[in-house]
Amino acid sequence: MDLFEYQARDIFEKHGVPVLGGIVATTPQEARAAAETLTSGADSSVVVIKAQVKTGGRGKAGGVKLAFSPDEAAEKAGEILGMDIKGHTVHRVMVAQGAKIAQEFYFSVLLDRANRNYLAMCSVEGGMEIEQLAVERPDALARVAIDPIVGIDEDKAAEIVEAARFPQELRADVAQVIRQLWTVFKAEDATLVEVNPLVRTEDGRIVALDGKVTLDDNASEVRHPDHEALEDKATSDPLEAKAKANGLNYVKLDGEVGVIGNGAGLVMSTLDVVAYAGEDHGGVKPANFLDIGGGANAEIMANGLDVILNDPQVKSVFVNVFGGITACDEVAKGIVGALDILGDEASKPLVVRLDGNNVDLGRAILREANHPLVTLAETMDGGAQKAAELAAAAA
Ligand code: GDP
Ligand code: MN
Repeated sequence: MDLFEYQARDIFEKHGVPVLGGIVATTPQEARAAAETLTSGADSSVVVIKAQVKTGGRGKAGGVKLAFSPDEAAEKAGEILGMDIKGHTVHRVMVAQGAKIAQEFYFSVLLDRANRNYLAMCSVEGGMEIEQLAVERPDALARVAIDPIVGIDEDKAAEIVEAARFPQELRADVAQVIRQLWTVFKAEDATLVEVNPLVRTEDGRIVALDGKVTLDDNASEVRHPDHEALEDKATSDPLEAKAKANGLNYVKLDGEVGVIGNGAGLVMSTLDVVAYAGEDHGGVKPANFLDIGGGANAEIMANGLDVILNDPQVKSVFVNVFGGITACDEVAKGIVGALDILGDEASKPLVVRLDGNNVDLGRAILREANHPLVTLAETMDGGAQKAAELAAAAA
C-alpha cells in the first residue's frame, strides 16, 4: 500500500524523523484555518500547499505552491484542489509549514528484489529530478546494499553519507536522520521509504520535506492492524474492494478478457498467453488477475465470476483451471453452480479449460450442463485464442 505524503509525514514524526508541521485540508476554508494554526506563534508566516496524490512530480505539475498568508493559503488550495495530476484528481491538500531551504538532498531505502536485499540510495543533489540524475550521472547517486539483519547502524549510515559525498560538517546530522528513516522502514514493515527532498534549512537543520512510503501489505493484518486505517477506501478500485471483501486475490488490469485461474503461477502465465493470443485479435488484453486458490468450490467461483462480470470492460472470460487437490469435477460443478447463482447476471461468453485431476469427469459435467455461454477448450493456448476471439468480436 502506498501512503499519501501526509500519512508518511505522520509516520516519520512518530519515529522521530524531523519533519515540519502539516495539516490536511479538503476545502480552501480548511486550508486557511490550517495555515492560521501552523503560523500562529511561528516566526514565519509562509506555508506550502501540497496536492495529496499518490504520484510523483507534483511540484512540476503545479501541485506544490507557497503561500504567504492564510488568505493566500485558501486561494492556492482552491487552485490545487480538483486539479488533475497524471490522472489523479486532487481531493486533499496538505498545508505545511514553509521551510527556508539551503540545500536539497535525496535519500531512499527500498526492497531490492533482484538482489534479495535492501538498498539505500542517497545523493547530495536532491530535488525534483532524481530519475534523471540516476540516468545521466549515475555516480552522483550512491547505492549502498543494506544487510536486512544488520540494517542501517551507525557504521552503515556513515558509509552512506560518505558514498553520497556529503561535506564533512553535515555527515553526522544526515547520518542520524538516515538512521531514523531506517527505523521507520523496519518498524512499519515498509518496502519503500523515500525522501526527496531531504533538506538543510538555512538555520542548519536536516528535515524531511517530502515523504513517499510503501507498506508491505503482507505484514498488515497480523503485525500492523493499525495500517488498515491508512487505506484510501474512497479511491481504491470498487471491483478490487469487492474482491478483497470476498477474500479473492484480484488485480484489475485494463484489457477485455477476464481471467480466472487457480494458483498465482498459472494465472500469471494465463495473462501472458491471453496477451499473446490477443495480438491476433485486434490487440485485446487480459482484464484482470484473479486467483481463486486451491479450494475452488461453487461459491468461490461465483464470487470470482461476479467480480469479473461486473467489470464493464470485460467482453469474454477465460477460466483456466488445473485440478490438483481440488479435482476438475468439483471445479466444473463450481462453474455450473456459479452460473446458476448468477442467472441473468452472467451475460458474457466463458471459455473453460480444465486439466489435471478428474479432467474427464469435469468436462462431462460441463458438456451435460450445456450452458449457452460456455465453450470448452482442450488446451490453454486454444482457450486463450478462443477467449481473445470472442472478446474481439464483442468489442
Ligand atoms: P514532488 O514534486 O511531488 O516530489 O513534491 P515535493 O514535496 O518534493 O516538492 C517539490 C519541491 O517544492 C521541492 O523540491 C522544493 O523545492 C519545493 N518545496 C517544498 N516544500 C517547500 C518549502 O517548505 N519551502 C520551499 N521554499 N520550497 C519547498
Ligand atoms: Mn519530492
